[in-house]
Amino acid sequence: MKERFGVVVVGGGIIGASAAYYLAQKGRTVLILDQYDVPNQLSASGDHLRAFRVSHGKDAFYSEMAMRSIPLWLDWNTQANDKLLVQNGFLELAVQTHGFEEQGLQVMKELKVRASKMDKDEVRRNYPMINTRAIKYAVFQPDGGTIWAWRTTGAIAALAQRRGAKLRSQMKVVSLVKEKGAIKGVKDSSGKLWQADAFLFSGGPWTPELLKSYRLPIKVTRQHQLYLRPPANRGRYRPEHFPVFACHAKGFYGFPLHIHGFLKIAEHKKGPPGKPGGAPEPNPAFEKKCRAFLKRFIPELASFTDSEASICHYDNTPDGDFIIDRLPDVSNGYVACGFAGRGFKFAPLIGKTLAELISGGKPELNLHRFRLGRFKGRG
Ligand SMILES: Cc1cc2nc3c(=O)[nH]c(=O)nc-3n(C[C@H](O)[C@H](O)[C@H](O)COP(=O)(O)OP(=O)(O)OC[C@H]3O[C@@H](n4cnc5c(N)ncnc54)[C@H](O)[C@@H]3O)c2cc1C
Repeated sequence: MKERFGVVVVGGGIIGASAAYYLAQKGRTVLILDQYDVPNQLSASGDHLRAFRVSHGKDAFYSEMAMRSIPLWLDWNTQANDKLLVQNGFLELAVQTHGFEEQGLQVMKELKVRASKMDKDEVRRNYPMINTRAIKYAVFQPDGGTIWAWRTTGAIAALAQRRGAKLRSQMKVVSLVKEKGAIKGVKDSSGKLWQADAFLFSGGPWTPELLKSYRLPIKVTRQHQLYLRPPANRGRYRPEHFPVFACHAKGFYGFPLHIHGFLKIAEHKKGPPGKPGGAPEPNPAFEKKCRAFLKRFIPELASFTDSEASICHYDNTPDGDFIIDRLPDVSNGYVACGFAGRGFKFAPLIGKTLAELISGGKPELNLHRFRLGRFKGRG
């Protein structure tokens, strides 16, 4: 007898895993297919940590999405019996007076989100490692903090399976088979056809290749990250004493100690174009940039000698908004991608929204900004 599912989810990163979890919760029979394991280190969801922040400058829409994600994250913590989101706070280092941080603070005030402005003295008292001569002030968001990324992806995929979802790893989808305005099935590299009533394509930075015929306007970039061991005063970089931080104007962000005495620092600015996958390699130019940033903002970290390189890929849309929509030519195909460098924090909300969309309901989240049709006519 042929196996047939309610929904086949292609791509078991955090977006696919989250959608599968909420679909299974709705009683749908779900199959997740992933070309590698779930989680895997080549995917955007396979790194140790991701940052959770509420503020998105003047863009209140994303701040609201972050706030709506928090209760869902806390529910995930409970369901998984783990601290997948740790709210150890998010600190923004402002180098100008009327910039992103000020706008974010205003939006958070309007949304009644907890956030406080810290003057230099307060920053010095709380975080003596920060060079306050380099900043004008800081904004602290107590609701922000650290997401344990690959642990979350694994936990949510496992919870989806506990609710009846099936997972097949090492199963690369290579083509879509369409019939009468619908997707009949997806073929894996061995030629097997996987059939379902509906299909979700959540292949992260591989999605443009997976859905080649749709010519998604996504540019994939290689993002370098650096793990380094503080040369001194390690204790004060523990999560109890040191929050996740970002200096938006300089494009850098970082985390407290989290693995074998290492902390992570990375640049949010888009890196060079690249193909997803591939092993990390040392990048002396990036290391030099990190050192220069640290020398100015957290000087005692700048003389690190123990470090390790890592890479991940952003799937960037032209306008920075995500893609969450039904595919235009079929009645039962959906796509969720373009989450670039900020999608993880919204994963529970996006998964829940996808489950509503695929189940034929009207999602609570307004998906207008995420329509595929907005790219029509762009070359
Ligand atoms: C360097 C970096 C830093 C980031 N920092 C943050 C942050 O601080 N805060 C935040 O909120 N977000 C952050 N993000 C964004 C966040 O990590 C991503 O938006 C999120 O992980 C994307 O999840 P995904 O499921 O869409 O993609 P992925 O995690 O890449 O998953 C896609 C999956 O699809 C599978 N797949 C692809 N093609 C096929 C195929 N043909 N057949 C079968 N399976 C397939 C892949 O194997 C993979 O497992 C960051 C991203 C990067 C790269």
